[in-house]
Amino acid sequence: MSDILKNVRAKRKVLVVEDERINREILGNLLMSDYDVIYAENGQQALNVLDETAETISLILLDLMMPVMSGEEMLGICKSDPRFSRIPVIIMTQEEDAEVASIRAGADDFITKPYNVPEVILARCERIIDLYEKKRLIDSAETDPLTGLYTRDFFFEYIKQLEKYNDEKMDAIVMDIEHFHLINEIYGRREGDNILKKIATMIMAELGDGYGIASRCTADIFYIFHSCTSDYCTLAERILAELEKVSFENAKIRLRIGVNKNVDRADPPEQWFDHAKLACDGLRGDYTSQIAYYDREAHDRQLYHERLIRDMESSIENKDFVVYYQPKYAIDGEEPVLRSAEALIRWNHPELGMISPGDFIPLFEENGLIQKLDRYVWEEAATQIAQWKERLGVRLPVSVNVSRIDIFAPDLEAKLLNILEKNSLTTSDLLLEITESAYCDSADRLIEVVNSLRNIGFKIEMDDFGSGYSSLNMLTTISVDVLKMDMEFVRNMLKDEKSLKLCELVMDISRFLGVPVVAEGVEEKAQYDRLKSMGCQIIQGYYFSKPLPAQQFEEMF
Ligand code: C2E
Ligand code: CA
Ligand code: CA
Repeated sequence: MSDILKNVRAKRKVLVVEDERINREILGNLLMSDYDVIYAENGQQALNVLDETAETISLILLDLMMPVMSGEEMLGICKSDPRFSRIPVIIMTQEEDAEVASIRAGADDFITKPYNVPEVILARCERIIDLYEKKRLIDSAETDPLTGLYTRDFFFEYIKQLEKYNDEKMDAIVMDIEHFHLINEIYGRREGDNILKKIATMIMAELGDGYGIASRCTADIFYIFHSCTSDYCTLAERILAELEKVSFENAKIRLRIGVNKNVDRADPPEQWFDHAKLACDGLRGDYTSQIAYYDREAHDRQLYHERLIRDMESSIENKDFVVYYQPKYAIDGEEPVLRSAEALIRWNHPELGMISPGDFIPLFEENGLIQKLDRYVWEEAATQIAQWKERLGVRLPVSVNVSRIDIFAPDLEAKLLNILEKNSLTTSDLLLEITESAYCDSADRLIEVVNSLRNIGFKIEMDDFGSGYSSLNMLTTISVDVLKMDMEFVRNMLKDEKSLKLCELVMDISRFLGVPVVAEGVEEKAQYDRLKSMGCQIIQGYYFSKPLPAQQFEEMF
């Protein structure tokens, strides 16, 4: 394993800092065969180069006398900045007395000008680079005494060195022994150590002459850096198979293995393994599989969700959430008449731009934040209704969405009444849409809440009616004021016979119950005509209008 460095053709990068072009060219020609040479004309330029690529540079050749920033000054900066201090510096000078000063400032060697013995210069460069690389490896304690695998620090140091010359596709693998502490407790520490050793031996055998290195990172967690195998008929799987055969005195060993395939070179190595570890941790409590692959998209999605959760409160304070209004038209007369509106939230995120509710509502429903958001929408909508009344003399009821989490809030009724009172409204101004699926997980509570809200005068619209399996069952126990037919039926009513039949069924039910139906998601004239002929009383959809900001919505009055 330790021969890896030998196998890779090492072409280190050398940064030459020299203001005179002729000297740059001489040095460049001299070094070119053994090194990749990068040039800078003065100290400032060199620092810019280092800012970008310090990680990949193995040596700096530095002239002392330069405009803009002298070599001495630059040397001082290099040696005091921890990002650059690991790079050796060779000073190029004409006068002997400058040597003492630069030694004090941390230079590692000298080359005198003019450059007349190329072999000496090349030998000096090679020796200094070698010295520094060895020192860095030794600085971190090399191997774990128990298993002989590399320690964590050494492992990452090694990878960073390797990565300068390696462009093969690589995988980061994390192995974790399940319930290892139990093995220690039940069978004793010595047996625990034995298991660790055996696993390490197997890992080493697997790495064999392939391209890869391994580390015991913490007690029972192994890190492996291994070249990507196109079909992953894997190292990991073979170790698992091997482990199956080994019996550690009845102790059944289970490994969890997380693989981050084809690591992304733009990320630092530690992150490759953090991601593999994430995949590995995802297997906790999963007894059906032992290997999991890191999924960048899923991870990004998770980060995005965490961001939304983090930003919600401040966005409420800054009013980045905007309420849009979509009209509902009564169509049972000669002409359609604007009857009410539905308040629908939009998130105008200061950095992420407009986010649609489909991206955050389900997320906030899951963690309960929806309650705060809903209350914000109720307040905004109530303020708007009052304003329309006062400013335009228009009295238009608006329906707001009530989530299932809201149903459980003991102060739901009080909160709603308080909002009405603050805006001098009544229960006929604010309609409540409750999704049918709320019935599934809390039927008793829903019945109780709906009854009590209706008792104080609120009108309840059963949203997404027909989408859940509880629709019919629910109607025997709850009285509602409006059925809001699930949008899917409307979407498909002219495409398949079943959806059309279901629309008709919902109409029948509504007639039987004596409540009107709102059809939402109506986009086309043909849908509109068909629904009207079925006796549908209210329509909401792009056919009339998309949800609009309040100001634009007013044009419909
Ligand atoms: P929903 O309550 O069923 O709202 C209807 C959705 O259908 C809205 O999507 C609306 O813009 C969309 N829509 C209306 N007409 C048409 C049409 O003709 N064609 C199509 N394709 N779509 C139409 P939106 O605004 O993206 O909201 C999606 C869902 O997010 C809502 O479904 C609701 O469940 C939730 N939501 C929105 N605002 C709130 C809120 O303030 N609180 C809660 N709890 N949920 C909300
Ligand atoms: Ca709704
Ligand atoms: Ca709906």
